[in-house]
Amino acid sequence: MLQEKLRSIENDIYTCAQCAFCTATCPVAEQKGWETYGPRGKMYLLKLLLQNDLQANEEIKERFYACTTCSRCAKVCQTDLKLVEIWEDVRSWLVEDNLGPLEVHKGIEASVAQSHNTYRESADKRDAWAGNLKLNKKGKIAFYVGCTSSYRMQQLAQDTMKILQSLGEEVAVLGEDEWCCGSVLLRTGQRRQFKEIVEHNVQALKNTGAKIVVASCTGCFKTISGDYPSIYGSELPFKMMHISQYLAQQIESGKLKFTKSINEKVTYHDPCHLGLHAGEYEAPRAILKAIPGLELIEMDNVREESRCCGAGGGLKAGMPDIALAIGQVRVNEAEETGASILASCCPFCKTNLSQAIEASNKNLVQKDITALVVEAMGL
Ligand code: SF4
Ligand code: SF4
Repeated sequence: MLQEKLRSIENDIYTCAQCAFCTATCPVAEQKGWETYGPRGKMYLLKLLLQNDLQANEEIKERFYACTTCSRCAKVCQTDLKLVEIWEDVRSWLVEDNLGPLEVHKGIEASVAQSHNTYRESADKRDAWAGNLKLNKKGKIAFYVGCTSSYRMQQLAQDTMKILQSLGEEVAVLGEDEWCCGSVLLRTGQRRQFKEIVEHNVQALKNTGAKIVVASCTGCFKTISGDYPSIYGSELPFKMMHISQYLAQQIESGKLKFTKSINEKVTYHDPCHLGLHAGEYEAPRAILKAIPGLELIEMDNVREESRCCGAGGGLKAGMPDIALAIGQVRVNEAEETGASILASCCPFCKTNLSQAIEASNKNLVQKDITALVVEAMGL
């Protein structure tokens, strides 16, 4: 029962001062206008549910799934509440009570159980993105590709691999042995498969012999680096890095060199799972600043104050209209800089921001940082 589960976070519920510092930061509350869509309102709903003054129902479920898990609220919370953990716990309790998740999320869980990816694709086509690129099972570095790059955004996987191979390292990929990282399942409260996923992926990555594992999806990066260790029970047997962190290091050491100029004004969107969740703001900027000719112009809200693209937390699948509207707010901000390229480094940001650009008819192009690196390396 939800009410019983809420007792485990009773202190948090009563600690919330209802100060509303968080409300102004919430991209969903901004779109919907109603208090209960924002974090303060959600905390108030939890208090009513705990006190038995309210019963969980479809409307309550809808409020708790109307969230990108961006963590902007947690960044400003005056009482330091770990709000994203609370949102994810509440979703998992709604699932346990057979109220959650949203219908579309159930299909994702079934797909992961059946074929180890979120898109109902065949597991044996997981490395079809590679085309003519030679893939190895062993290496000093492993590239965790992720479901979206494997099946829906193959250019991102190809660009990442081309860059890594051009740096002279032997790069391992898991192919069919790579299972969905479990990010979407965790964010939507569907935790049943997560332990098995963690154990499988960690063992498979360990078997490659790699000491460093890179991901070009920030959802995979955040999940493996942030959520896997507590389930795995100890430190992971490899260092998990986002591709931007790895490439920034290679630039710093002089190993990665650019041979071509990109004479464009570029603005950079911080993906929430890299920035707000993992505190990495510098690495992507270091890469952009090192590209000859490229002029980086910052938006008004960046780094710890960055706006969300709207795609996270299962919102894009569950409530695509709200996700798109949030993306359009970010695109407006990008346009105000006068940049011609809106760069980022996450396939979910890419999808939502590209659709927002199209829906708003803006004169902007969305590019992943790896695409800019490939261009500037002349690959
Ligand atoms: S995580 Fe983001 S979307 Fe969710 S309540 Fe907090 S600010 Fe709003
Ligand atoms: S900032 Fe924190 S304490 Fe204030 S209303 Fe939001 S959740 Fe509650």
